[in-house]
Amino acid sequence: MYKFKVLVEGYARAGQNGVYHASPTTSLIYDEQIKVLVDPGTNAEELKKAFVREGLKLEDIDIIFLSHYHPDHFLNIRLFPNVDIYDGGIRWHNDEEHFFEGKLPGTDIEIVATPGHATEQSSLVITTEELGVVFICQDVFWWEDGNQKNDTVEELMQNEDPFKASWEDLQRSRKTVLERADWIVPGHGKMFKNPTKR
Ligand SMILES: [Zn+2]
Repeated sequence: MYKFKVLVEGYARAGQNGVYHASPTTSLIYDEQIKVLVDPGTNAEELKKAFVREGLKLEDIDIIFLSHYHPDHFLNIRLFPNVDIYDGGIRWHNDEEHFFEGKLPGTDIEIVATPGHATEQSSLVITTEELGVVFICQDVFWWEDGNQKNDTVEELMQNEDPFKASWEDLQRSRKTVLERADWIVPGHGKMFKNPTKR
């Protein structure tokens, strides 16, 4: 069974002088064999601090998974120049594109297409001993700081997304997550228990 850890909690907030600050939830899925980093984000300082806290080196990462192609989710790939990049269906090794489906190659980590926020968005699903089914769905759900509302299915289904590509797809993806997850990892905000499982 895999273990799961949030390394940097995702945030999104307006700062000073018209600057906006955003970095997504960056998490680690790991066992004895493999370490998968999900959405390395933009905040290099916080990510490096988390690595130190966990006794990890940047070179320990085997796979970087990107949930979708919004820059706040991936700018920190610069810290890992030698690690292959994976999305929901392709592994990039330099100019080589290696195609796959269902699971991340070499792992039991399930990939589920969850379009809506972005058309290419995919989620990872794992089962852990402590938490049960963890659905790392990133921007299928996200909130600006202080606005997180995850107490009811209604709140979650109706949560506005100003950057959505398709509201219909997003509704379908949210339903998929809520049907299966024990715990949900949003793109920006705190990981939370599925209200239908409380
Ligand atoms: Zn996004």
